[in-house]
Amino acid sequence: MEVIFKNVSFLYNRGMPNEKRALDNINMILNRNLIHGIIGPIGSGKSTMLELMNGITKPSEGEIIIGKYNLTNKKERFNFNKFRYDVGLVYQFPEKQFFCSTVGEEIAFAEKIFEPKNRNLKTKVIKVLKMVGLDESYLLRSPFNLNGGEKRRVAIASVLISNPKLLIMDEPTIGLDNNSKKRLMKLLINLKNKFGKTIIIVTHDVDMLYEIVDNIIVLNDGRIIKEGNKIEVFSDVELLDKNNTPVPSIIRFEKLVFNKTGIDLGYCAGINDLVRAVVKNVK
Ligand code: ADP
Ligand code: MG
Repeated sequence: MEVIFKNVSFLYNRGMPNEKRALDNINMILNRNLIHGIIGPIGSGKSTMLELMNGITKPSEGEIIIGKYNLTNKKERFNFNKFRYDVGLVYQFPEKQFFCSTVGEEIAFAEKIFEPKNRNLKTKVIKVLKMVGLDESYLLRSPFNLNGGEKRRVAIASVLISNPKLLIMDEPTIGLDNNSKKRLMKLLINLKNKFGKTIIIVTHDVDMLYEIVDNIIVLNDGRIIKEGNKIEVFSDVELLDKNNTPVPSIIRFEKLVFNKTGIDLGYCAGINDLVRAVVKNVK
């Protein structure tokens, strides 16, 4: 699903002496079936932006349209229950919100509330377990006794069960070890390629982002200071540095090599590419 912001601003404590303009006239179109990254320093407005996409908080000014839902049309209320199915938000540390005694129940929870007569529930639960790379043997296990990466995947499965077209994630790799991170990245790429999902990720983990993302939005002080495909955005190291925004290690390394030797290693999609480019230039 496409996400459109038109002249969107958001003010905390509007009209009070401590009024804060957290988002300032944001205009953007996030196209469907792509992975979008939102980056920027702490306090730049990233979480506020996600909250507006979640449909509960309304912008102070402007218009937000997500797929067929206009979240800001005052005349015609959008169908929030349907919207909940189409847009899945994975909060930071989603596993902290576990409360069922088995993985199966945890994943089925939202479906049970919204569709109590659903007879295919077990089949559905197994299907999303497989989507996140876990199998049936997890159904009766306690979600509390899994490792960090498994917990995160169960939490994502509990969002995927409603089959959202748009998946929004706040810092999905935080606290994960390297292996779990790699699996999660594979999962996100699969969700995009095989299941046609649109994914929006807020993160400081630009090394992860560099490998999986299509487009990037850079926020600072509530404004979009750069947007475009990942190569365009991440190559602008000066701008990212100036705005206190992390730069992927691969790009940092390439710039260093270029500045010291004049050798342009070209576009490297990942560390293996980078090594190949270095070896080629050393020979
Ligand atoms: P980020 O997620 O990029 O760190 P936030 O969206 O959380 O940024 O915050 C954007 C700005 O809004 C910051 O200056 C922050 O201090 C302010 N802010 C966030 N939440 C509140 C709130 N509940 N009340 C007042 N100001 C807030
Ligand atoms: Mg935040």
